[in-house]
Amino acid sequence: MASRVAFGGIPIMRLSKADAVSVVRGVIGLGVNFIDTANAYGDSEEKIGEAISGIKREDLIIASKSTANDKKTFWEHLNLCLDRLRTDYIDIYQMHHVSSVERRDAVFAPGGAFEGLTEAVRAGKVRFPAFSSHSIPLAMEMMKTGNFAVVQLPFNFVDTAACEEAIPLAKELDMGFIGMKPFGGGLLEDAGIAIRYVLQFDGVVPDPGIERLSEMQEIVSIAEGERELSEEDKKTIDALRRELGAHWCHRCDYCQPCPQGIGISSVLTVESLIKRMPFKRAFMMASDSMEKSRTCLECGVCVSRCPYKLPIPELLKNKIALWERVVAENTV
Ligand code: SF4
Ligand code: SF4
Repeated sequence: MASRVAFGGIPIMRLSKADAVSVVRGVIGLGVNFIDTANAYGDSEEKIGEAISGIKREDLIIASKSTANDKKTFWEHLNLCLDRLRTDYIDIYQMHHVSSVERRDAVFAPGGAFEGLTEAVRAGKVRFPAFSSHSIPLAMEMMKTGNFAVVQLPFNFVDTAACEEAIPLAKELDMGFIGMKPFGGGLLEDAGIAIRYVLQFDGVVPDPGIERLSEMQEIVSIAEGERELSEEDKKTIDALRRELGAHWCHRCDYCQPCPQGIGISSVLTVESLIKRMPFKRAFMMASDSMEKSRTCLECGVCVSRCPYKLPIPELLKNKIALWERVVAENTV
């Protein structure tokens, strides 16, 4: 059984190895046995590997992910993961960010990553085949194939799409459900409300990215306390939904395709990347899409497709301004 909350291993990329090891060991000491990381999270797997060496392997549930499309790269990622985590099996291995039809088709093609995942389960190197996604409709299709034991989707009190159909579906299919971004990628600041909201849903394990032990101490004490949302909490949630709803991108990508090839959702959620990643890595990941977003023609096609009617061209300009400020602060 997994602990009621997971430990998300993105932010430890920003820490020194010694500090990361001490955070991970401290988190485990708090009774959190579920650790989630990914090949794409820089040296996170390696730091976790050092932190858990010497801890009884069966006492931990370790999840990691691969962005590979093809089987060969999938095996490279998995073997590296086993090596870095100093273990001979991973409990939950996820095909990372299967959020577009193109990626879904690539991983399921002959010689694709899914073949690798199936082989890895057969070889005993992976206990539970899984995937993560930002697209709820696509994820639900994949869940229904019966090929996966665990799914990871964004879920917090603003991104509630997952709860409407995907959470009951996971329950019906007896699948594990990892709640990605319980704090909206660092944008929802009231930990009590954010965690209590997710814990209302049985079987959903929130997976917050943690950088300081004090953050996990707070989360664990919230999870161990009164979980019911108070009337006051509900009012705060409604107010935040109203306030954030005007500019909150749910990464559904219904606004695509953009004639200029702008990765709209990546640009609109760049703040979350900045908050979670070391600046150099965020820069590497986002600079091309931020540059491209400057070519917006303000044609409005995306706005007409966005179910939330977000004023996308205006939001792109705001994000470009934010990006310029962050780049300036980090290059002086
Ligand atoms: S308004 Fe800008 S971002 Fe939206 S579709 Fe047109 S060019 Fe693309
Ligand atoms: S801008 Fe709208 S349609 Fe596009 S990803 Fe965000 S929420 Fe979805």
